[in-house]
Amino acid sequence: MGLLFGTAGAPVSSKGTDSLSGIRRIYELGLGCMELEFVRGVKMGEETAQKVGILSKKLDIKLSVHAQYYINLNGEGETRLKSRERILKSARIGNICKARSVVVHAGFIQKDSRLAAYEKIKKELSRIREQMKSEGMDIALRVETMGRNSQFGNLDEVIRITEVAGVLPCIDFSHLHAVTGKNNSRQEFADILKAVENKLGREGLNNMHMHISGIEYSEKGEKRHLEFEESDFKFRELAHVLSEFKVQGLVICESPNLEVDALKLKSEYERY
Ligand SMILES: [Zn+2]
Repeated sequence: MGLLFGTAGAPVSSKGTDSLSGIRRIYELGLGCMELEFVRGVKMGEETAQKVGILSKKLDIKLSVHAQYYINLNGEGETRLKSRERILKSARIGNICKARSVVVHAGFIQKDSRLAAYEKIKKELSRIREQMKSEGMDIALRVETMGRNSQFGNLDEVIRITEVAGVLPCIDFSHLHAVTGKNNSRQEFADILKAVENKLGREGLNNMHMHISGIEYSEKGEKRHLEFEESDFKFRELAHVLSEFKVQGLVICESPNLEVDALKLKSEYERY
């Protein structure tokens, strides 16, 4: 399927802000994918989800889903239960949309050691996968690399957690850059891809899901997303490395100008 480029939510230039308008606009722009943003809750019903699935299939636009931000699988009692339900709800609607993946921010490290947080989150993700399986869902669960150290989701954690069957990585390159200011050169981008390949094999690079944007950060990590040209993020180098490694899958652009930067990244990629 090659490498497809698209936006986080409907492109800015869509006729409407709804997902159907967004998918049509993605098609008109010559992009290949779109992430449905359920980040502030799943407002899409099953009926719309079916229409979304039909339209995306007709126009051959691949979809993914971003689950709610307010999730902490390392939380206690109610927080953990609600987090589980939120992920499942996104996955259910995403599955009806025929989305390939549901992306999650897994949680916070809090007072625990990273290892203790890992074990707890792993257990929760296994449970969620079991439930998804029992409901017959055909959608991957993707844990995202995060932009702050206080969050679960450094590169090692995201790669290692794929030991849970059905869990795959979502590599947010801009987040990985924001945590330390590193991860912003061809060599470092290549090292990230090699780490994925070491764990998941060539199959891992053939089925990638990525987030990319310009980004502003401080010593505490991510502050906000920026347009490429306003940020120091080396998107041209990254496009080159993605081409060198023949990575396949979805690239979701999260810059504020969504499709402008998605198209920029795509044309940069196509130069190689
Ligand atoms: Zn995210």
